[in-house]
Amino acid sequence: MKRVVIIGLDGACWGIVMPWIEQGELPNLGEILAEGVYSELRSVIPPTTPPAWTSLITGKNPGKHGITFEFFKQKDGGFEREIVSALDNKEKCIWDYLSEHDMSSIVINVPVTHPARKMKGILIPGYMAPANPVCFPRDILDEFQQENRAYKVYADSEVADVTPEKRLQDYIDLTRLRKEATLYYARKYEWDFLMVEFQKTDAIFHTLGDSNQENLRLRLYQCVDECIGEILEALGKNAGVLLVSDHGMGKCKWQCCLNSWLKEEGLLTYRSRATTREDTLLTVRKRTMDEGYDHMPVEDEPVKGTSSRLDALMRYLGKTGVTLERADEILSRLHLTFLEKKVPKIIGHKMPRRQIDWAKTKAYCPSPLIGVRINLKGREPEGIVEPGQEYHDLRRLIIEKFQRLRTPDGELVFEEVLPREEYYHGGESSDAPDILFVPNDSDRCIEFKGFGRVFRPSSEYWHKMDGLFAASGPDIARAGHLPSKLSILDVAPTVLHAIGLPVPRDMDGRVLTEIFNESSEPAMRPIVYQERDETEKVKSKIRRLKRSGEV
Ligand SMILES: [Zn+2]
Repeated sequence: MKRVVIIGLDGACWGIVMPWIEQGELPNLGEILAEGVYSELRSVIPPTTPPAWTSLITGKNPGKHGITFEFFKQKDGGFEREIVSALDNKEKCIWDYLSEHDMSSIVINVPVTHPARKMKGILIPGYMAPANPVCFPRDILDEFQQENRAYKVYADSEVADVTPEKRLQDYIDLTRLRKEATLYYARKYEWDFLMVEFQKTDAIFHTLGDSNQENLRLRLYQCVDECIGEILEALGKNAGVLLVSDHGMGKCKWQCCLNSWLKEEGLLTYRSRATTREDTLLTVRKRTMDEGYDHMPVEDEPVKGTSSRLDALMRYLGKTGVTLERADEILSRLHLTFLEKKVPKIIGHKMPRRQIDWAKTKAYCPSPLIGVRINLKGREPEGIVEPGQEYHDLRRLIIEKFQRLRTPDGELVFEEVLPREEYYHGGESSDAPDILFVPNDSDRCIEFKGFGRVFRPSSEYWHKMDGLFAASGPDIARAGHLPSKLSILDVAPTVLHAIGLPVPRDMDGRVLTEIFNESSEPAMRPIVYQERDETEKVKSKIRRLKRSGEV
């Protein structure tokens, strides 16, 4: 196969798009399915954007690449969190392997690729990058912006309180801008591999403020479908096209707060009377403003509209369920600079994981989707659980109780609950939570919250484990739905093989030979595996030892 194009649709899954395809609403997606193969694409734990895309582009589980913690990285021995970036990804990406073989890639808007590393080709980072991301080459956006509109990573109304219609319009503008940039660079420069990610197919499920906005969601997906049609028309003729997503999406029946469950079990204690995260944040904000800290920009307060935008931001941060000690940095990194000046810096220092009474807490859920951490002595800043027997007994106890935990209507909450070493493997596993879980994948999923009642009815959308995969092109079989479920880890080795490169032995996925037409070149050519080179092994071992303080 000469060239490969990956089109990424964040959060898309067949449960969402198949009814629209069947109604003829997404003709270009429909054509890919009719002419190629498709299946479900199993995500990683946790099924969130940063670890999942990083697994897709590296072919490795989060224990190897190191993005194990949703949107944030917990620094050793402290409560501080940092937003994850490409610097946390310890593995090579598809385009790094191509670069080594003197082949070119164009990569646009893939999450967690900021700051761009040196490569052969062009990389414009996506989600989690700042508004002015570090691209490769550094000034590559200039030429596009001279001939076109200003390039944007985020929509103008990213967390502002706007009507659903206005938000949709901003998302549509952003989606078209992404397509324009893709076409611009792909026509002007040579490439063997091209990847573009559309992010708002996920955001549209989280940010409309009302879960009953089916028509607005369809309009965004129709816009994406048009963009896919144009990209394929312009570039896809001689290329294999893979359509992928990082995880699925589904409507919830229940909201579940594991910290409250831990509290009821006597394993977690709060220090203050604040019972919800939002209460805590708003209290801190109000007190801060009342006291009038002198580093606060007085002329900005009160500013019309500020408080609703601030509230929107707090809701947004609250949704992550993470307590942040560095809100100001987070704001600037997420392009919320319009808010940055208006949020008192002090919030950054008073955001309370401190609301938890650590001396009386044995386990906690640091962020809704990612699992449970044991408050381990020597590792956590105020750890109380002894390593060894006490740690293992406590972990087994929680796992056993989770395995039996049921929603108020009697369904099991989790499909699988397991200690982290049974799922993650690799040198970065030690950053992961001690207990991992896969939510039960029924029709209605469960939304996990950081704070609140243990169970509460919900009709929000939330992530599911199964995303989507489809492929079409000259060498792709016209086989329709594949019986096998595919893993997100399979995409990178499949692309390398399709393009004619060896597959690194330490990738965790497999080459999806079943997607190729039986008589095609990639189907006939044996898969060549490449052992990990020795210097790489040594380097990564040194990195590990350095981090653990042994060197
Ligand atoms: Zn996502």
